[in-house]
Amino acid sequence: MTKNKYFVYWCKDCDIDFLFRAIKKKNFKAHCPVCGDFIHTELVKHLWTDKHYVYHKQYSLEEDDILIECRNRKMPVAEIMKILDGRTDKSIYSRIRQLKDKGRIAR
Ligand SMILES: [Zn+2]
Repeated sequence: MTKNKYFVYWCKDCDIDFLFRAIKKKNFKAHCPVCGDFIHTELVKHLWTDKHYVYHKQYSLEEDDILIECRNRKMPVAEIMKILDGRTDKSIYSRIRQLKDKGRIAR
């Protein structure tokens, strides 16, 4: 399987992050999948992935387990980001909130 390069963009307007296949074009601006605009999108980081990425991909059971374990060890989100490659801090924070709602992480 070939590795594809992706860029993570963030739309300041909608407060969401999304992935875009790397396009070799100067000053390329990604369009936000929600508002369709590109004025408020910002490049967050580059990443390589060999997984087919689905926008706002669901967290796998494995990722949840890692996240819960990391939180139990009181690890900061910046550290968790290094383990859960491809997940942004915003994404991790919102997943932690969901897991707390489900009672899988202690409040
Ligand atoms: Zn937007």
